[in-house]
Amino acid sequence: MKLVFATNNEHKLSEIRDILQNTNIEIVSLKDIGCSAEIPETSDTLEGNALQKARYIFDTYQLNCFADDTGLEVEALNGAPGVYSARYAGEACSFEDNMNKLLLEMDGKTNRKACFKTVIALILDGKEHLFFGKVDGTILLDKRGSKGFGYDPLFMPEGYDVSFAEMDAATKNSLSHRFRATNELVQYLLLQK
Ligand code: IMP
Repeated sequence: MKLVFATNNEHKLSEIRDILQNTNIEIVSLKDIGCSAEIPETSDTLEGNALQKARYIFDTYQLNCFADDTGLEVEALNGAPGVYSARYAGEACSFEDNMNKLLLEMDGKTNRKACFKTVIALILDGKEHLFFGKVDGTILLDKRGSKGFGYDPLFMPEGYDVSFAEMDAATKNSLSHRFRATNELVQYLLLQK
């Protein structure tokens, strides 16, 4: 089965392809279908953004597809940065900018609990489905590690004493929010055939 993953993020493409490597599901990127448009992402919820991106691809190309949206929710910050995780430090900011802002906002906070949430919106033969994944953890006092992307150096998943950025990709992929949501998606897809 071929599915378009409505993303331009190479890290996410390779993570999801790793997870799906022993299945018959082939992931096709936006580049593969010749889509270079900036797909709108204007909702104030993860679900809304995931659906908006998937609908754009389905409506434009009539291809089965899915899109994801992820947010880091920090308890002491009332769920921020949440749906605004990508541009927490402003438009066109870097991962470093976002992490520096998070460290600043968390300065002096003793409650370091946080979670990553991923929502995947699938459109299969015109029908919409949502899948969810979550991983609990804590925000570290300093950046640790250089693997992964985004907020990985600051996030330590529950039950581990290393950050996401200190783990090899296989370990992170086996427990991440995206893995859990993808797993839900894969279970559903495998039941269809
Ligand atoms: P997106 O919705 O997947 O693009 O993610 C929104 C923001 O969360 C981006 O700034 C990403 O860097 C960050 N993010 C998404 N997934 C991860 C992850 O697995 N680790 C760390 N940060 C992530």
